[in-house]
Amino acid sequence: MPFGFCYNSFLEALSAVYTSKDFTLAALQFFCLLELSKIMKDLKAVFLYSPEWDEVKYPQDCPFDTGRAGKTRNTIRSMGLLGGSRNKEIEPVIATRAELEKFHDPAYLDAIKNAEKGELPPEAFAMGIGTPDCPVFRGMYDYFSLASGASLTGARLILSGEANVAFNPAGGFHHAGPGSASGFCFINDVVLAAVELSAAGKRVLFLDLDVHHGDGVEKAFYERNDVLTISMHESGKTLFPGTGAEADTGSGAGKGYAVNIPLPVGTYDAAYERAFRRGALPLIFKFNPDVIILELGMDALSGDPLAHLNLTNNAYVGIIKEILKLEKPILATGGGGYNVEATVRGWALVWSILCGEDDHDMGIGMGGVFLETSEWLGGLRDRVLITDAGIRDTVDAEIERVIRVIEDNVFPIHGCSPTRAGSL
Ligand SMILES: [Zn+2]
Repeated sequence: MPFGFCYNSFLEALSAVYTSKDFTLAALQFFCLLELSKIMKDLKAVFLYSPEWDEVKYPQDCPFDTGRAGKTRNTIRSMGLLGGSRNKEIEPVIATRAELEKFHDPAYLDAIKNAEKGELPPEAFAMGIGTPDCPVFRGMYDYFSLASGASLTGARLILSGEANVAFNPAGGFHHAGPGSASGFCFINDVVLAAVELSAAGKRVLFLDLDVHHGDGVEKAFYERNDVLTISMHESGKTLFPGTGAEADTGSGAGKGYAVNIPLPVGTYDAAYERAFRRGALPLIFKFNPDVIILELGMDALSGDPLAHLNLTNNAYVGIIKEILKLEKPILATGGGGYNVEATVRGWALVWSILCGEDDHDMGIGMGGVFLETSEWLGGLRDRVLITDAGIRDTVDAEIERVIRVIEDNVFPIHGCSPTRAGSL
């Protein structure tokens, strides 16, 4: 099976077979080689990376760190999670102007290019270019074109069957609109990838785990029923961009195909996973996507300086493992994440999960290289966080309310039955 395969389980099973007296050593060696080659053939995970991303920087006072992709690459390489026979690194192809225009207005793309040259007329400012959240910086047009090219490269590798997992840590610019920059995002690589996949006749699930509402992607597909957008985010009542209410569910043919799960301040792992299992998973099963785009902003982690949720990276693992059970190709992207070390660790962890590695054994291959921080002694996983009972009650009540709204408004459109509270 291409997904969810636990290589360590395989090794455990193999060692059990080795101890059996019913097989000769020669037969076992043959079995080993046969199974291993099959797994290697099935698993085609691609990590998209360009060294050019390390050369570009947002202005110093902007919290968005373009170096996170390179740091993630260094981490997974040092842990033996890249460059083996079961996964590989591919340098992306930069998106062309014609490709960018499949979503973005030509005048807006011109305005980004001109802003780099120092031209920032009022019209550009009105598009969001040159604002504190979307500052102008050297190399920005090519940076975003390459980030978009990476998501498109991943989508094409999936369409051609060359990959069943592709991870673009420099992608996930989910706030950008056709003619507007917003929230550090200028060119919406995830929309472009979804357009590419849906144009090939694929039913696309866009699952957004970034802490901010995926407003740009939702809006792009708000009236369509071949792209299901599900965004789990801190409520717009307390966080940018202020949208993504549970009552917003799509319109026209897309009614019921935009799903929002706004979360209260302090949301913790178990509550987050419960919201996903009850509010999103039944809809995902019914929708039965051909391809999944997974935005993995790590700004929902506890301690992120821009948000107020209380997750550990174990929550991301829980959800990704559910997604892997669908056995569908996955294009994963980065996104936000403003505690750089926690973000890099989270992306390294999710890459290990997407590659079918057993994350519990991550400490084995580390060689002590990353053990200087007490936050992740023993591997990539965060420590379990204890949540105060009072906060748990408040969070649980709000999430229950949100789930019931989704069950009332969206589930009937898909013929889904609510999951009984307490059963998950
Ligand atoms: Zn974010």
